[in-house]
Amino acid sequence: MNDPELTLGMTFASKKQFREAVQNYGFKNGKDIRTIRNDALRVIVECSQDGCPWRIGLRKVFHSDAWRILNMVDVHEGCSWVWENSMVKADVVAKRWAKQLNNNPEWMMTKFRDTVTSEKGFYLSDQQAYKAMWKAKKQRIGDTEENFKKIWSYCAEMDRTNPRTRYKVKLSDLQDGETGQERFLRMYICWDASKQGFGHCRPLIGVDGCHLRSGSGGMLLTTVGVDVNDSLFPLAYAIVEGEKRESWSWFLKFLAEDLGITKDREHDYTFISDKQKGLIPAFEEIIPGVEHRFCVRHLHSNMKVAGFQGKAMKDALWECARATTRNSYTSALHKLRALDEEAYQWLGDKSPIEWSRSHFSTHTHCDMLVNNICESFNAALLGARDQPIIDCLETIRKMLMSKFFEQRQKAAGWKSMICPSIVGKLKKIEKQASGCLATQCDFFKFEVQQLYGGQHQVDLERKLVHVGIGI
Ligand SMILES: [Zn+2]
Repeated sequence: MNDPELTLGMTFASKKQFREAVQNYGFKNGKDIRTIRNDALRVIVECSQDGCPWRIGLRKVFHSDAWRILNMVDVHEGCSWVWENSMVKADVVAKRWAKQLNNNPEWMMTKFRDTVTSEKGFYLSDQQAYKAMWKAKKQRIGDTEENFKKIWSYCAEMDRTNPRTRYKVKLSDLQDGETGQERFLRMYICWDASKQGFGHCRPLIGVDGCHLRSGSGGMLLTTVGVDVNDSLFPLAYAIVEGEKRESWSWFLKFLAEDLGITKDREHDYTFISDKQKGLIPAFEEIIPGVEHRFCVRHLHSNMKVAGFQGKAMKDALWECARATTRNSYTSALHKLRALDEEAYQWLGDKSPIEWSRSHFSTHTHCDMLVNNICESFNAALLGARDQPIIDCLETIRKMLMSKFFEQRQKAAGWKSMICPSIVGKLKKIEKQASGCLATQCDFFKFEVQQLYGGQHQVDLERKLVHVGIGI
């Protein structure tokens, strides 16, 4: 309806629908269209510029509420783009611009007026701009309130259709001042499919938070796992009031329960994040034993903020991060130190366990350095973040459903015992390794002796092979 192509015989459900279509046509084409007849049976509209033949005759369809275009002259002659269009009314502008106004709550009237004017090419008075903004806001608040009222029925629907899924709703301790009603604070959802699937994922979990832009504020917290084919696997998510310790703790508590991260198994799991505000204290409180990785891209931007800039510095940092042995890490770090002693000191505060492959524990079976999984997931949710709460939750649910289905379809066609992207990686490594010769190093022998309690030589060599494979 935003860009209608009016044609002969076109039918409208109501006069109102036709009027909207004509308004949109007028805006789109810079024409001022006036109504010259409007009664119970007929509507006639024409181009308001003198001598222009453009007109449409609409007639009510017999025994129906519908209206149809019965005659039409679809040519403009001698009429130019109308800058001051009489059809530009606040409610029409509010409706057409609702989405943009929603996405840009910080817009002042002048900004809005100028954007409409320059992008659409018609004049909007200050008064019209104010009125349109006010109407759009009123509509948005109405939608938001309606959505919050639906939360309990949404929960009931989850119980009915997906009983093993876990959700939690927390209401605010503060009640609404005027009505005394309880107010929504947080909601957590972990679908049963995610819970079950996580059992087959790597024990690495990406955590991230992003702002919601529906006008009611709040944040969306998301967690994403890595499946055996190195694809992202969405886990739980929550809508909370903001990024702070209490909301992270609340979220992590349920997450740990749903993913089976019990006290004695905490050490088996690693979380990767941008160390958002309040996140680390929340981990300390709920699951203190888990390992952490700090997204290297984020570490690098912190480094730039701290004043250590330039490509050489960036490359040096990444070389440290990508180093796979402690020796190569140390030599990369020396290179960085040679570039800038202060940067080296700054980095000294940060444990390499959190950001260099050389220090990662191997049981994670994943050497990911950046929180890409969360970033791509959140990017896919960009549209959902503009929507009121129920619409937002539904968009996420539908996305998960189609993603899981798509992956399942793909996997059904796999023939090999090992997943395709891993086969690809192995092929690459195989080629690189083909030129290497195996030699025993004394230190390694010593470590193996420690491990197996110093057995005789033949046995030891066999174990070496074993350990090699283990690594
Ligand atoms: Zn015309």
